[in-house]
Amino acid sequence: MRRYYVLPVMLSIFLLHACATAPVTGRSQLILMSEQEEAALGLQAYQQVLSEQKVSKDSQVNAMVKKVGLRIAAVADKRDYNWEFTVIDADDTANAFALPGGKVAVYTGILPYTKDEAGLAFVLAHEVGHALARHGGERMSEQLLIQLGQQGLNIAIANKSPEAIQAINLGYGIASSVGIVLPFSRMQEYEADNIGIILMAKAGYDPREAPEFFERMMKGSSHGSTPEFLSTHPADENRIRRLKALIPEAMKYYHE
Ligand SMILES: [Zn+2]
Repeated sequence: MRRYYVLPVMLSIFLLHACATAPVTGRSQLILMSEQEEAALGLQAYQQVLSEQKVSKDSQVNAMVKKVGLRIAAVADKRDYNWEFTVIDADDTANAFALPGGKVAVYTGILPYTKDEAGLAFVLAHEVGHALARHGGERMSEQLLIQLGQQGLNIAIANKSPEAIQAINLGYGIASSVGIVLPFSRMQEYEADNIGIILMAKAGYDPREAPEFFERMMKGSSHGSTPEFLSTHPADENRIRRLKALIPEAMKYYHE
């Protein structure tokens, strides 16, 4: 009897969560898990990363990151996320990341490039954009589909084969262990830029500072090693041009 019960439940779970819409851009997304499941994984991965890294005790830097982060979170309009902004003490790492559910971290090595609060606001808002648009869940779903293929996934689920169960577990496992290392797609990066520049403007930070941040990063990389943020966030003239094209729209939300 039990197998007749499991199948409809599983299918309904998949169908219920399969479609989502990204904020700001309105892009349709295929996401095979619930936001709650995603957030639980995000929290788990966050705690793991923070336990392995040195969390900064610099009260000045912490105060600035919290202040800017909470201003961005306030305009993100996502009350069910428990936003957290942590500073990781690593001057040689110019990077930042966001995990599902609103868990954000910046490495101190990125601060020379963000330069001031407006630069930091763009980086944090970009990361908040990844979380809001559920890019982590989208990527996990892609992993699942890559492993089985759409057809294979449907058949495996219909037969509730051990492979389907394993693929789902693996998909989650992949996401929680390498979720931070695996870069987002170029399309997700542009989308996070788009959401980010609007959010920073709404939070009262000058959106004209967003491309300036990338220009500083590119200049930094021409002088020596490539900042980590650039290896997962390819910055080129094209990205800067797209960002500049968003400024007029963002300026509508900006009040000093
Ligand atoms: Zn990004």
